Amino acid sequence: MPRALKRRALGLLFLPHSFGSNKSESKALICLVGVPKVLLLCSMNIAQFTFNAFAENTFLVYDAQGACIIVDPGMSSPEEDAILFDFIEEHHLKPQCIVNTHCHIDHILGNASCVERYNVELIAHRLELPTLERAPAASLMWDIPYRMSPEPTRLVEEGEYIDLGSHRLDIVFVPGHAPGHIALIEHAEGVILSGDVLFRQSVGRVDLPGCNAKDLIQSIQKKLYTLPDHFVVYPGHGPETTIGHEKEHNTFVRMTESYL
Ligand SMILES: [Zn+2]
Ligand SMILES: [Zn+2]
Repeated sequence: MPRALKRRALGLLFLPHSFGSNKSESKALICLVGVPKVLLLCSMNIAQFTFNAFAENTFLVYDAQGACIIVDPGMSSPEEDAILFDFIEEHHLKPQCIVNTHCHIDHILGNASCVERYNVELIAHRLELPTLERAPAASLMWDIPYRMSPEPTRLVEEGEYIDLGSHRLDIVFVPGHAPGHIALIEHAEGVILSGDVLFRQSVGRVDLPGCNAKDLIQSIQKKLYTLPDHFVVYPGHGPETTIGHEKEHNTFVRMTESYL
């Protein structure tokens, strides 16, 4: 299948529900693939890249001194590797670690090339190790090339954090879409990297191995909706949103909750 069509087909299968039903949003998202979007916050920056057949968001979080964290590297080709690595080098960033919010294949495709290039810690929750083990099978199922990810070198739990210069990203355990899913929260900047838990007006899939709908909704209600309304959510697919917007407009959370 031509690459663009394959990207579209897989994207519609894997993306949050709203993208499959809204053609203009889907098209706009596909146009963003590979083009970094840089968000300048007070003293911390976020660069968002959209990579691979699943239109997955890869993030660089970095401070004014260039300390940098790579979140969910999803590069699936040497060309996508070059987009991320060129950005890192052009901005004189110094990667400190790689974090996988969870280990679905679209979020780990670039683990091997990032570890090889920067030789830094690879961080995930211990409950994601079985998900990581299933990655070769997932690559066969989706017919996408996969360079075997190294094993994580740091296994984290809720309550731990990742230092980024003067910033601190708290690790929050948000299972449901994946058994060991984590979110990263920077309270001073009001930033949440939510992986595939909460999307703009949608939620992560719960029909994959290891998913649990009740856990997902509880994670959103207890760990994310309890944060201030102005906190900005940067999800693993699609555009950013805020906690306030989702509390008001996210019908998937309310609908799923009513069935549990
Ligand atoms: Zn996922
Ligand atoms: Zn994903």
